[in-house]
Amino acid sequence: MPALAARAGQLGTESAFEVLARAQALEAQGRDVLHLEIGEPDFPTPPHVVAAARRSLEAGETRYVQSAGVPALRSAIAAHVRQRHGVAVGPERVIVTAGAKPVLLFTILATVDPGDEVLLPDPGFPIYESAVRFAGGVPVPVPLRPENAFRMRAEDVAARSGPRARLLICNSPGNPTGSVIGEEDARKLVALAAERDMWLLSDEIYGRLAYGPAPSLFAQPGAEARTVLLDGFSKAHAMTGWRLGYGVVPPALVETFVRLMVNSVSCVPPFVQAAGLAALTGPQDHVDAMRAEFRRRRDFLTDALNAVPGLRCGVPDGAFYVFPDVRALGRPSAEVADRLLQEAGVAVLPGTCFGPGGEGHLRLSYAASPATLAAAVSQIGAWVRASRG
Ligand code: PLP
Repeated sequence: MPALAARAGQLGTESAFEVLARAQALEAQGRDVLHLEIGEPDFPTPPHVVAAARRSLEAGETRYVQSAGVPALRSAIAAHVRQRHGVAVGPERVIVTAGAKPVLLFTILATVDPGDEVLLPDPGFPIYESAVRFAGGVPVPVPLRPENAFRMRAEDVAARSGPRARLLICNSPGNPTGSVIGEEDARKLVALAAERDMWLLSDEIYGRLAYGPAPSLFAQPGAEARTVLLDGFSKAHAMTGWRLGYGVVPPALVETFVRLMVNSVSCVPPFVQAAGLAALTGPQDHVDAMRAEFRRRRDFLTDALNAVPGLRCGVPDGAFYVFPDVRALGRPSAEVADRLLQEAGVAVLPGTCFGPGGEGHLRLSYAASPATLAAAVSQIGAWVRASRG
């Protein structure tokens, strides 16, 4: 097998997709499963966004377009970033990608040589580690500690960034914990990246799903010359299946990003980009409504989980995940998750899907209906009580 394909075979631990497949296999046998493993909004894409795609298709926009994105969307994204982050970027630094995920892979390919180290959050989005390995880099996990509400701290990065450290990946609000990096840590992380001459990837895909202040690392003074901002439409606009995201990249990386688009997918479909333009420039009520609903569900879920003896759950400041501590159950989190699926009919992810630092925790997504959440917590509570005797 070619070396790259072999590396692809080694990627990561069990993913959300694999748990979903096991849950679906149970459903095929006639079992009912409540799905709290999925990381995508349960809301429909807003109608004005769907209508824009339809208009584009009907206007015949079905051919290749520019690899970096159509000019109207790149300009709208630059304007959005200027307004939201107060950073003066022009459209020439915006690269439109098929979902936000390619921004991660492209950043690694553009900055990391084989053997270079990439610092990444543990627990964190598992694709960080697998993409680093895929590119021949060396992942260096930075522990996110429960006692610090799973926020990445500059001291922990400093202690692990040696001479081969090339890239630091930060994610706030974060998957899987919902944690938000505070103002002081954001400043320190950016300063550290400069001091150690590392590139910085700021994954802000959940940036508009924060329930309080959520400072952007990209917006910190001195950040943008060495920082790639990863953002997109999947979460904020309920558009996971459209595959639309973007990177705002330092001038030195623009050409590489464009080449990677040319050499991989050529371009994002024009009618998908038309939908993105409508999502960014049209009414924004759907974002606010979704955030308010997620907040209500977060409050319900954290209260209900904390009422179960043996479970402890912090109240995350963003995204749509809770990350309860199940250490008091005295079993590995993979076993707890597996038994919750088999015995309680609730699909959740073990924290170890997100790195060894996730041991002792589960990730529950509250991108599910309030009725599903209520039933799930009741079934989880009954199982926990029974399993503790
Ligand atoms: N970054 C994080 C932290 C995510 O959780 C996800 C999706 O789950 C992504 C990036 C990728 O987003 P997209 O679906 O737009 O590729």
